[in-house]
Amino acid sequence: MPTCKRCGAEHDAAELIRHERPGVILVHCPDCNCLLGRYRRHGDDPRTDTRRH
Ligand SMILES: [Zn+2]
Repeated sequence: MPTCKRCGAEHDAAELIRHERPGVILVHCPDCNCLLGRYRRHGDDPRTDTRRH
């Protein structure tokens, strides 16, 4: 279950806001709208990109 790094909320994957981009799906926190992770659209093993910047 992804935890938001900004507001600390935990959400089920189904609750996250998804934005589809070419090749990837970006997921955002429904509470504060910050980026939680990136899912590759192609591939059988989607994983979250938790890289900080
Ligand atoms: Zn949040």
